[in-house]
Amino acid sequence: MGIFDRFLPKKKQPEVKNTIPQEKANIKKTFGVYCNKHHSTKGEKLCPKCTALLATVMTKINRCPYGITKPICDRCERQCFGKAQNTEFMKIMTSSSKGMFLKHPMMTMKHKMASLSVDYAKREQEKRQAEKAAAKKKNAEAKAKAKEEGQKEK
Ligand code: SF4
Ligand SMILES: [Zn+2]
Repeated sequence: MGIFDRFLPKKKQPEVKNTIPQEKANIKKTFGVYCNKHHSTKGEKLCPKCTALLATVMTKINRCPYGITKPICDRCERQCFGKAQNTEFMKIMTSSSKGMFLKHPMMTMKHKMASLSVDYAKREQEKRQAEKAAAKKKNAEAKAKAKEEGQKEK
């Protein structure tokens, strides 16, 4: 840190926005679209099966270990709802995207943007991990070579 750094404006930490309410609203609407189409329900009223699954999803989101930094659930690798319920959840989320776009275009666009940013973050993380592993390997090779050369000189 330089002597003049104290006079420079402090760097702001990037703000983590809480997008959980937005995600929950999107999931509720998606369940509505799916249930109306496949289980002959009307409006926001869901069939018992979808109601039960939605309740599980909402509870899990409230207890999500990632807190407000969570990825969106349909892009999460942890998939914490249990095997059968994960499959059902993913089926609802993916098969209703067209219906959601027609009924709630803005919400769908925002969800799509969130998906893209999770994918981007994942790719960046993988890239950083690969770079780290390559640097570690190179370092180990250089050390081994130096050791070998040191032994030859003796
Ligand atoms: S699926 Fe992932 S993001 Fe969603 S609640 Fe579970 S751990 Fe959190
Ligand atoms: Zn249903």
